[in-house]
Amino acid sequence: MHILVVEDEVALCDTIVRSLKRLAYSVDYCYDGQKALDMLSVESFDLVVLDLNLPNVDGMTVLKTLRQTDIDTKVLILSARCEVADKVLGLDEGANDYLTKPFHLDELSARIRNLTLTRKADVNAEELSLTRKETGILEYLMLNQGRPVSQEELIEHVWDSSVDNFSNSIRVHISSLRKKLRSALGYDPIHNRIGEGYVMEEKK
Ligand code: CA
Repeated sequence: MHILVVEDEVALCDTIVRSLKRLAYSVDYCYDGQKALDMLSVESFDLVVLDLNLPNVDGMTVLKTLRQTDIDTKVLILSARCEVADKVLGLDEGANDYLTKPFHLDELSARIRNLTLTRKADVNAEELSLTRKETGILEYLMLNQGRPVSQEELIEHVWDSSVDNFSNSIRVHISSLRKKLRSALGYDPIHNRIGEGYVMEEKK
């Protein structure tokens, strides 16, 4: 996983970069928005940790510019702006997550772990040509790896509330997803625990 950290407070940037490197991510960084755009235009990243108040080009503009051509790279906004309106704007502009400063490094790395997991699911989904619902199910099960997820929980998190939320329909989507995974991986990583739900087995 290749991560770009954009943060103009040098000490904070350094702390984030070091802690992510310790977790074995490949990390690049820069201190201003223009440099971030330059780097994003020539290199591909799986995830960008993006401060909003940046010199030259602000973080929101970096996000908007990136999203004009790239919807795949995950973006986690890191900002001292804690107004709900700022968060909504950031998420509307295509950020995948938003963390308010000050924050704990453990929380940052937990959120990055989740985002990079769903990034892997996205990549897999493309290769497996999954439908939108199958991708949603796969992402949610990957996020909750090792823990059984009930049909009710899947309905709540993966389905639009207005849509056909009948358990039969979920079973159909899951069975189709499992068939595709089995043919791609040679085994089926999803198990059905009777009375508990579906569980994505943890990597061995
Ligand atoms: Ca800043």
